[in-house]
Amino acid sequence: MIIMKLSLVVPCYNEAENVAAFQMAAISAFDGSGYDFEIVYVNDGSQDATLHELRKLHTEQKCPVKVVSLSRNFGKEAALYAGLKQACGDYVSLIDADLQQRPEIVREMVDILEKNDEYDVVAAYQDRRGEGKVLSFFKKSFYRLINRMSDISLKSDASDFRTFRRSVAKSLIEMGEYHRFSKGIFAWVGYSTYFIPYIACQRAGGVSKWNFRKLLNYGIDGIIGYSTKPLRIATFLGGISAVAAFLYLIFVVLQKLITGIDIPGYATIIVLILFLGGMQLLCTGIIGEYVGRTFEQSKNRPIYIAKEILTYDKDSDQ
Ligand code: UDP
Ligand code: MG
Repeated sequence: MIIMKLSLVVPCYNEAENVAAFQMAAISAFDGSGYDFEIVYVNDGSQDATLHELRKLHTEQKCPVKVVSLSRNFGKEAALYAGLKQACGDYVSLIDADLQQRPEIVREMVDILEKNDEYDVVAAYQDRRGEGKVLSFFKKSFYRLINRMSDISLKSDASDFRTFRRSVAKSLIEMGEYHRFSKGIFAWVGYSTYFIPYIACQRAGGVSKWNFRKLLNYGIDGIIGYSTKPLRIATFLGGISAVAAFLYLIFVVLQKLITGIDIPGYATIIVLILFLGGMQLLCTGIIGEYVGRTFEQSKNRPIYIAKEILTYDKDSDQ
C-alpha cells in the first residue's frame, strides 16, 4: 500500500465555482515538489452544483481525489472532522476551497515540518494590517476575553489553515465533541506549533458563509466550550447581590428606627426588581448554555453523517 505524503482536507459548501480552480492551483503548487498528495473534498450539503463538480474531479483523478459527501450542511467544523477521518497522508493540511488560502503556502508548511523535527504543526495566522479598525478592535477584544476566561491560550488571528503531522490528526479525531470550536481544539491538543503569517486573498468566487450572528455564536461556543468561568462569574454575581441586599436591609431598618419615617422607595424597588431580574435571567442563561451542551453531548449523536464516500484505488493509482 502506498502511503501518501500529504492530504489536503478541503471543506466545500456551495463552492461549485471554486473547486476546479482550487484543484488546478493545488496541482501546480506541488508540481515538482516530489511529494505525492491527495485531496479530500468534503461536500458539506451544498445546494449548488458542488457535488457535481466534485464528482467530475473524482472521475478525472488528475491527482488522487476523495470525496466525502455529507447528508446535509453540518458546518465547517464537522466537515473538517469528516475530512480528517479520510485523510491518510503523513502530513495533513486543512485549507479552504475558495482560494483565499493559497496552496503554495501549504508547500512552505510541509517544508518547515520536514526540516524541523521539533514542530508538529505549522499554522498560518492572518496578517490583518489592511483590515478595518472597528473589526480588528472587536476581534482583539474577543481574543483577550477568551484567553482570560478559558483554560487554553489562543493566538489572535490564528486560522484553521494549518498543516500537521499524522499524530496531530489522530489527536484531533479523538476529540469527539459535538460542539466543535477548532481554534480551541487545536490549542487543547497542544503540540509545538510554528506560526507563519499569511495574507488572505480575495475569494475566487461565491460568497463568504459568515455573518455577524454566526460569528457571535462561534465566539460563545469558544468561551463556553473551553471554560467554566462564566459559571463562577454567575456565582460571584449572586453572592455580591446577596451581600449588597443584606447591607441595604440593615440600612433601611436602621433608618426606620432612627428617623421613624418610611422611605418612599418606588423607584428603588423598580430599579432593583429589573436589575435583579435581569441578572437572574443572565445567570440562568449561562447555566442553560452548559446544560444544553451537556444535553447535546449526552445524546452522543454523530458529528456528521456521510451519505457517500468516493475513494480511489491506492494501488492502481501509481
Ligand atoms: N464551509 C463549509 N461549511 C459551512 C460553511 C463553510 O464547509 O457550513 C467551507 C467553505 O466552503 C470554505 C470554508 O469552509 O471552503 C471557509 O468558508 P468561508 O470562505 O465562507 O469563510 P471565510 O473565508 O469567509 O472565513
Ligand atoms: Mg473564505
